[in-house]
Amino acid sequence: MPVIVNKEKCTGCESCLASCPFDAIEMTEGRALINEYCQSCRACLETCPEGAIFETEDEAPKDEAQLAEYRGVWVFAEQREGKVAPVAYELLGAGRSLADALRVELSAVLLGASEAQARGLISHGADRVHHCADPSLEHFNDESYAGALASLIEKHKPEVVLAGATPIGRSFLPRVAARLWAGLTADCTGLDVDLEDGRRDLLQTRPAFGGNIMATIACPGRRPQIATVRPRVMKPLPRDDSRSGEIVKEELVLPPARTSVLEVVKEVAESAVNLQEAEVIVSGGRGVGQKGFAMLKELADLLGGSVGASRAAVDEGWIPYRHQVGQTGKTVCPRIYIACGISGAVQHLVGMQSSDIIIAVNKNPEAPIFTVATYGIVGDVFEVVPALIKKIKEARAQ
Ligand code: FAD
Repeated sequence: MPVIVNKEKCTGCESCLASCPFDAIEMTEGRALINEYCQSCRACLETCPEGAIFETEDEAPKDEAQLAEYRGVWVFAEQREGKVAPVAYELLGAGRSLADALRVELSAVLLGASEAQARGLISHGADRVHHCADPSLEHFNDESYAGALASLIEKHKPEVVLAGATPIGRSFLPRVAARLWAGLTADCTGLDVDLEDGRRDLLQTRPAFGGNIMATIACPGRRPQIATVRPRVMKPLPRDDSRSGEIVKEELVLPPARTSVLEVVKEVAESAVNLQEAEVIVSGGRGVGQKGFAMLKELADLLGGSVGASRAAVDEGWIPYRHQVGQTGKTVCPRIYIACGISGAVQHLVGMQSSDIIIAVNKNPEAPIFTVATYGIVGDVFEVVPALIKKIKEARAQ
């Protein structure tokens, strides 16, 4: 059974701290808090002179009055090296529609980074930005970020919290949800709200059972409703610097984290172009074969794009994993996605179907890729792609 602290009874005497073999008790705002490291070993139960530590059943769902205390949609605005990540703007686009449907404000939370970055969030759709510029939040740290976001949520009580399903969001949002006894749906590809009969439930859609079905999940009795969303799935709003909004400076008392960032070492990628930022992607599947990837690279270079791949091509060892598009690869949203010799399995489609224009080349007219294609070419890639390359070169030579 979970172990918790009754905040009303706790006097902040700290006598429980040494009892925990997992370092799962921390002091927050003068009160003990049992964090997500707790293994329910019960070693702390007898240590509190006030009897403030006790075992409990799983927290009961919130009643209507408690649910009504939570209002507003929040977006966690991830920043790296002081610059807001594109996924934050995408989430503000999605959050704006949810907030408008719920008739509430849309807020962003920015941990670290500058006030100019906070202002940029308003230009992208936020009504308010909760900005905490504490130096300890400059670099991502699971513990500090989880503590900071959880305490801001406890203070302001938003009903919905969205974050990117990036390595950062995937790492610390589960801790936030555990601290708050809230539901979390990871890797969503669609968001909506259920407003029937006075409900205000977030409908969170994500692939399930290996991507064979899309499941829609709601957490009706829990607040906030937390969802992570893959980058490049939602569309950002156009930047509008005339928008006005409020920047709330948040001062937080954060307990010292157990780990600290000593150095940031960047991986040097083979290709200068990041697949997720490419405007044009030429992707190859099993139908292209190993030798076909050279012509896809030539076409991608001509178009100023990058080469992607299906999992089948990656599994064959024809191209490294970092090029894989799909459920277990990258989600991409280029202006043009050219799928060559790719059948269009659902696990591939979830990673590329929001591309602006999809061109599919496949010799099988029944291939499922044609169901999402803007333009479909039924033919052999070894005839179609060289013909495209030739035409582009001819057009450029004129
Ligand atoms: P195939 O399905 O074998 O299709 C090859 C296509 O090429 C066929 O349609 C054929 O008609 C066409 N073709 C053959 N020769 C030619 C030619 N000369 N000219 C034109 N067309 C030709 N897959 C992903 O892509 N990304 C993922 O992230 C991913 N994650 C997965 C996660 C799980 C849990 C599971 C179970 C599967 C996942 N898969 C993923 C695999 C996915 O189910 C498919 O097996 C895979 O996408 C198939 O790749 P393909 O389309 O290249 O190959």
